[in-house]
Amino acid sequence: MINIQQVTKKYGSFTALEGVDVTIDRGEFVAILGPSGCGKTTLLKLLAGFMKPTDGQIEMDGAVAASHRRLLPPEKRNIGMVFQSFALWPHMTVAAHVEFALHHHTNSKKMGKKDRDARVKDVLQMVGLEPLAQRYPAELSGGQKQRVSLARAIAALPNVLLMDEPLSALDVELRMEMRKEIQSIHRQTNASIVFVTHDQGEALAMADKVIVMNKGRIEQIASPEILYTQPETEFVAQFVGKCNLIKGVWKDDHFVPEKYPWERWGDSGVRKTLKSRGLYPVRPEQWKIDRGEGNGIMGRILFAQYQGKEVHYTVQVENEKWTVHTSADESRLQPGDHVTLSLGVSNKQEELQP
Ligand code: ADP
Ligand code: MG
Repeated sequence: MINIQQVTKKYGSFTALEGVDVTIDRGEFVAILGPSGCGKTTLLKLLAGFMKPTDGQIEMDGAVAASHRRLLPPEKRNIGMVFQSFALWPHMTVAAHVEFALHHHTNSKKMGKKDRDARVKDVLQMVGLEPLAQRYPAELSGGQKQRVSLARAIAALPNVLLMDEPLSALDVELRMEMRKEIQSIHRQTNASIVFVTHDQGEALAMADKVIVMNKGRIEQIASPEILYTQPETEFVAQFVGKCNLIKGVWKDDHFVPEKYPWERWGDSGVRKTLKSRGLYPVRPEQWKIDRGEGNGIMGRILFAQYQGKEVHYTVQVENEKWTVHTSADESRLQPGDHVTLSLGVSNKQEELQP
């Protein structure tokens, strides 16, 4: 439905995006994930139609919406937008914000007053704001304000909802609550969502597909599960969850760690790029850790952090520090303890869907 082809965007001589290729299907929930300054907002602005790409093109519903010489303006695209700053009008009530959005959207310009009122009511109900319809922004909490900007964005039933770090101004608890709310809105509206975030937890938790960006380029596009279990690059391995990158030699279907040549590790979906760089990614929870010297990689506990369900260890292995997570039920290790690390087997459980 949206096809971004070889898009490059320069600001003067600075290249903010380079050779970006992405497709977004109807109804898909896509997260754009990357550190500050990597070009996430630039990509979203191009999708919104606020500016032209320097090179490449963007197709929407089969027609070219943007290239270096063509630009379909935002109001002609069937989109809704939500920003980090809620951008509300102080003199307008909650209901008036939604009504205003409806009034000015091409989709609903011809709507009669009665239909419009009904739609405002529906939308406010969807985001749980109906009882507050007559309040002004100054009378709302942060979470309620963000709900108003969500309601405004979905009022005209857009095909695509663009969200630029919509939850980062909220406190932790509210952020968790709003994650569910946005997922619920996604299910009710069938709109595609493009959700920008620098928070890997948020991207993994919410999206069907995650686009990981770094320095204006795409590092990997994959489902949250593939991204976590099969990172394509060093950047992805370390930006998405904690990861120990072990150096060694790849031989066809197994890996021999450089410092522990008596070990043989299986392939388990390690990607080409990491293989060609002689690396093996190990997630903190994949390690099996035993007290004392044994059959495996020897190390010493540097730090132990109790987390309730898990204990997080930092283990000194020769001149490197590795991260190991274990269940808190296991016998607890203390800084200074000598330990042996080996690759454990994770027993996978079936996931439940809503
Ligand atoms: P993100 O949203 O991932 O933090 P942005 O897309 O806002 O990143 O910015 C990407 C890069 O482009 C940054 O280095 C930023 O400083 C630069 N940039 C963004 N907007 C402009 C602009 N209007 N003029 C010049 N440089 C810009
Ligand atoms: Mg940004």
